[in-house]
Amino acid sequence: MGMPRFAAKQITDWLYKKDIQHIDEMSNLSKKNRESLSEQYTLGLTAPIQVQTSSDGTKKYLFKAGIHGFIESAYIPENKRNTLCLSSQVGCKMGCLFCMTGKQGFQANLSTGEILNQIRSIPEWQQITNLVYMGMGEPMDNLEAVMQSLEILTADWGFAWNPRKITVSTIGLVPAMKHFLENSECHLAVSLHTPFEKERRMLMPISQKYTIQEILSELKQHDFNRQRRVSFEYIVFNGLNDTMKHVKELARILNGLNCRINLIRFHPIPGTPLKGTDEKSLMRFKEALNAKGIITTIRASRGQDIDAACGLLSTRELRAEKQIKSTVKNLNIVPNDSKS
Ligand code: SF4
Repeated sequence: MGMPRFAAKQITDWLYKKDIQHIDEMSNLSKKNRESLSEQYTLGLTAPIQVQTSSDGTKKYLFKAGIHGFIESAYIPENKRNTLCLSSQVGCKMGCLFCMTGKQGFQANLSTGEILNQIRSIPEWQQITNLVYMGMGEPMDNLEAVMQSLEILTADWGFAWNPRKITVSTIGLVPAMKHFLENSECHLAVSLHTPFEKERRMLMPISQKYTIQEILSELKQHDFNRQRRVSFEYIVFNGLNDTMKHVKELARILNGLNCRINLIRFHPIPGTPLKGTDEKSLMRFKEALNAKGIITTIRASRGQDIDAACGLLSTRELRAEKQIKSTVKNLNIVPNDSKS
């Protein structure tokens, strides 16, 4: 655009380090440059359309995304740590049995801007200390936009975040996971949910494509001994994946990998036969894994009094919108002469 080189640094400072709403506010750019920027670009900030606040302080934000879709982000304050859980897609292709987003099906990939907007447009954005890509969608299925967002988040010219404060989750799309591991320093969380192939295929149909063994052999090529962490997400279901047989197999397959397991309580969703395990069995499972030498933690359940399970809020909004559309459609087909 014919601007001097140093203008790039000025612009990225305004975009990523300051709290502005309009290009007009970039006061160290000349008026002419601000005008020509405004002719071609906007900041792209889109405010959430809804927020639910839990009694524990968790906030769930709903954004419009794609043509007809919605995405959710969850802000989870906890002592000195304030985590934002980000979405990477509108809906999801992966069809996991326990997931409301999976039930929506896939609608669209989020752009890099839409991913970052979830951070930049919430009132608490400057208080966020940790980011997790664990909201709607499979981040590795939208690799390009996710990698670009990570670059902007961690670059000195961008938000300058420490990559160790960012965790990206995957259900184990091996080639994309390999690319992520080779080109970023952020932590990785792999959704495992069972050490047995057959059970995993039932819970997560995509695992027919990439087996547990393939995922683990890729992970074993990388160094998780220093600052970088790999963890395994494990939703504990009653009578399905919470037995001592599972503990033994987990210890066997994870042997030689420096990792930890995060046990997650199941947040019930409509229309699934799955049930979360009870607290006693959860503790027993955790202790048995710890006894095998695997660092195991239980993730605190947050936002239970709002739509805690990821995808519930957006599904409700989608249904409401469909209902409105069908009502409008029905109204339109009422013949004029019958309206009296
Ligand atoms: S759990 Fe993740 S990968 Fe599976 S359907 Fe839900 S959003 Fe997609």
